[in-house]
Amino acid sequence: MSRTCDIAIIGGGFSGLAVLANIVRTAARPFSIIVVSRDAETVFGPAYSTPRMEHLLNVRAEGMGLFDDDHRGFYTWAAARNKNVKPHEYLPRRLFSEYLTEIRKDTLAAAKKKSIAFEFLRAEVEDIIPAEATLRIETDQGEIAARDIVLAIGNTLKAKEDNSVGARLVTDVWRYDYESLKGQTDVKNVAVVGSGLTALDSIISLLTCGWKGKITCLSGSALLPQAHPPVYDSTQIKRPERTDFIGKSLSGVLKSLRKTARGPNWPYAIDSLRPLHQELWTGFSKRDRLRLSQKYFNLWNIHRHRCAAEIRAQADEARAGGTLEMIKARCTGFRPVENGVEVALLQGGQPKAQVFDLVFKCIGVNYAVANNPLLMKLIDKGFIKAADTPYGIMANEQLRVYEGKGGTIHALGTPLFGQLFETTAVPELRHQAAKVAADVIASFAGLSRSREAGAGG
Ligand SMILES: Cc1cc2nc3c(=O)[nH]c(=O)nc-3n(C[C@H](O)[C@H](O)[C@H](O)COP(=O)(O)OP(=O)(O)OC[C@H]3O[C@@H](n4cnc5c(N)ncnc54)[C@H](O)[C@@H]3O)c2cc1C
Repeated sequence: MSRTCDIAIIGGGFSGLAVLANIVRTAARPFSIIVVSRDAETVFGPAYSTPRMEHLLNVRAEGMGLFDDDHRGFYTWAAARNKNVKPHEYLPRRLFSEYLTEIRKDTLAAAKKKSIAFEFLRAEVEDIIPAEATLRIETDQGEIAARDIVLAIGNTLKAKEDNSVGARLVTDVWRYDYESLKGQTDVKNVAVVGSGLTALDSIISLLTCGWKGKITCLSGSALLPQAHPPVYDSTQIKRPERTDFIGKSLSGVLKSLRKTARGPNWPYAIDSLRPLHQELWTGFSKRDRLRLSQKYFNLWNIHRHRCAAEIRAQADEARAGGTLEMIKARCTGFRPVENGVEVALLQGGQPKAQVFDLVFKCIGVNYAVANNPLLMKLIDKGFIKAADTPYGIMANEQLRVYEGKGGTIHALGTPLFGQLFETTAVPELRHQAAKVAADVIASFAGLSRSREAGAGG
């Protein structure tokens, strides 16, 4: 079946919703919008679809508002429901999903009032083809013709379902039934592969579900994300000395950072640099950008994308008590064995194998554009430009990635990692969403004016 609309938003996560909400909020005339997502209507991407209350946001409530002109929106929403909520708290991601669900509901009601036609299509987008007057989106549920397309396609997770190993290798760590472990006497020794925020989600669920066993965390770094200060003091964020950072190579920036990020206030020194991230990134040589996104990425992430202090404290306590062991080893494969999984490892350069009763594969997000079949098709056809590192696509100032025959394509979020670097968390995404929405509306107004002028002439 084929559909037609003015604007198609591909992606139903935070970014897709933020673009939709901004467009509806600013629209002065009616048009039609279709949102296409491979997930169900109120599933807001992997980050916010966890049903578990112990999986917390890693940004304070006061910083998680969806609209760029209302950063405290989420906190205001949460505080109206529970007066004990504090602005600096790290609230459950499930609660954030409820906030997004409510914004979506309000947005659809506002769209109706403005006579904006809205449709949600659950489908996999496989290709986009410029046709004469529109762009043609090919999905596994039929075609859509649209004049403006927004790519809000977010994160590609590294861990894919792996039926060859069986149920003892868990790849969806957010939907796993941890409580079922309590009754399983044959699960005593569990491995968590990876040590980033996803691994921490899994470790915390294992520690809080009532199961009593040993957790071995295997990763190339054996480093867990650092913790935010228990009570965040924003006054500690100081404007960095530009001359210490801008125009320097990666080594120069790291040297300056080591000086400013000394002592217990190091998290504030790291956070102070945030306004300079994009300028620093674009100023680096290609070699430095590759070094940062490959060699130093893990180290950067654990300091920059920190977890709530109480989460890290639980993990540290488990380590001190021997329940959690961190092992520096790179996992190279999995093999099913009777009642377990054999994990192939490289430890200190030596191959070895270890058997666990259950394994959680928590290897995070893949930024490489080669792992996104849709983006690869668009790049191969030559109408979207790849970044000069393996991580994403290039956009102009208005976040357009294509303009020409058939219409315009915008993109935001993770697909722009190679160009912008700091482009994956809510504070950046809501800003980009407002920008994309403004440009879509402006180009629409221009198009309508030229159509009217054409009709008049
Ligand atoms: C576990 C985890 C926790 C996080 N916690 C935080 C946090 O506390 N605070 C914070 O600011 N950030 C956090 N982040 C970062 C997070 O990535 C962003 O906040 C945000 O969720 C990204 O939203 P998005 O819409 O850009 O991408 P996604 O959430 O990945 O959504 C992408 C959407 O596009 C759809 N899609 C993709 N390709 C196609 C296709 N070809 N066809 C159809 N549909 C498609 C998907 O189905 C999905 O609906 C976290 C990330 C993770 C993974």
